[in-house]
Amino acid sequence: MRKILTPEPFANKSADAVVIGGGIIGVATAFWLSRAGLKTILVEMRDGLSTLTTTASIESFRAQFTEPAMAALALESIQVWENFAQVTGMEGYEIDLHHGGYLFLTTDEAAVADVRSTVDGYHKVGVTDSEFFSGEEVLKRWPWLSPEIKAAAYRAKDGWFSAHEVTQGFARAAAHAMFYLRTRATGIETDGKGVAAVLTDRGRIATRVVVNAAGPFAIEVARWVGLELPIYQMRRQRVFVAPHPKIPKEAPLVMDVDNDSYWRPETGGALLGWHDPEEQRSDPMENPQGDWDFPAMNLEKVARLSPFWMEVVEDLKQDDLSVYAGQYVHSPDDQPILGPVAGIPGFHLNCAYWPGVMLSAAAGRWTCDMITGRMDPKSNPLRFSRFAEGVTAAPGAFMRGRH
Ligand SMILES: Cc1cc2nc3c(=O)[nH]c(=O)nc-3n(C[C@H](O)[C@H](O)[C@H](O)COP(=O)(O)OP(=O)(O)OC[C@H]3O[C@@H](n4cnc5c(N)ncnc54)[C@H](O)[C@@H]3O)c2cc1C
Repeated sequence: MRKILTPEPFANKSADAVVIGGGIIGVATAFWLSRAGLKTILVEMRDGLSTLTTTASIESFRAQFTEPAMAALALESIQVWENFAQVTGMEGYEIDLHHGGYLFLTTDEAAVADVRSTVDGYHKVGVTDSEFFSGEEVLKRWPWLSPEIKAAAYRAKDGWFSAHEVTQGFARAAAHAMFYLRTRATGIETDGKGVAAVLTDRGRIATRVVVNAAGPFAIEVARWVGLELPIYQMRRQRVFVAPHPKIPKEAPLVMDVDNDSYWRPETGGALLGWHDPEEQRSDPMENPQGDWDFPAMNLEKVARLSPFWMEVVEDLKQDDLSVYAGQYVHSPDDQPILGPVAGIPGFHLNCAYWPGVMLSAAAGRWTCDMITGRMDPKSNPLRFSRFAEGVTAAPGAFMRGRH
């Protein structure tokens, strides 16, 4: 049966659950809902799944979070990445998983104690295999890094995978789900019992459960049920650099926590990013564009700790670089918002991500379990009501992507 469809107008459609948004978050949610036996429909307004923010990501994952909920989502998701074929029941299915490691670095002597206490913070929330390295230890292991480095946090089992393969895999494995492309949700109908239907440009889908997984558009979807989410969007860019012999193939993901830049190897080339402090909040964008001068700025930033980039730059031609952009979504405590919303029965959130690729597997499972009653929404640390209750987490360390 073909499950990813660009349909004719809907007639008398209904579903146990409708997911709005076909990024990695929505598709992972649809997978778990389908796995729980719910007849699920996912609507995606674009031509393909995971073609908005998810495709702009550098597809990396880490467990190194200091907030308990983020670490829990990350660790559970990593279990899924490491066992994707078994979890989805698709023998031999590959997601191009690399345990390249994540290395956070500083050259600031005054920040060494922070790095050490952050590693302790990782351990406290169960990420016990994160390591503290001195500058000398870093250089011994990665001699191509700058001798100015004073300290590092490192976890060897962090890494990266193909978000495209993960999305397609979740969709293929979702036996009770249908995925409708080029189908834009335009509203949500409610009645005395709560959510009653999702309205789309192809017609109405009757349902009692809706999941808002609309990525940067989650703020707009929530307004359809009168909910104002305390979130905002911020454009972020990344650069692909074509293969070059001077780029170390076995490098980890290298993060400069002093200037908020990072890079990692990718098929002989590399993916780079930088959180430009000048970037402003933006409205949800259907076609976020990168800036022509971003690659040059990004290369300069990553060259600070990985000086080989200066030699690579000398050989680069314009065609060797491509820039992509997407939008991070931030909540007040920089954690996602998951689960039901009091007063709007049937309306569920799975949104507000800046690291959504890496958390998607567990976030989808939690969202599903709150819909099916297997998880008590009150025990969900990422519930929407945490902001009103004043139980938000202390800000995490390193590379939050906002300024
Ligand atoms: C430069 C950059 C680098 C990143 N690197 C990483 C990384 O290494 N690791 C990591 O974990 N995260 C990373 N991220 C963040 C990550 O990409 C996002 O957090 C994640 O993709 C969010 O997934 P999503 O499904 O919520 O959003 P999206 O992928 O944006 O999906 C939402 C979907 O909803 C659809 N939609 C919206 N409104 C409607 C509607 N009304 N009807 C139908 N469909 C609708 C959209 O078309 C879209 O396809 C990065 C992001 C950027 C920009």
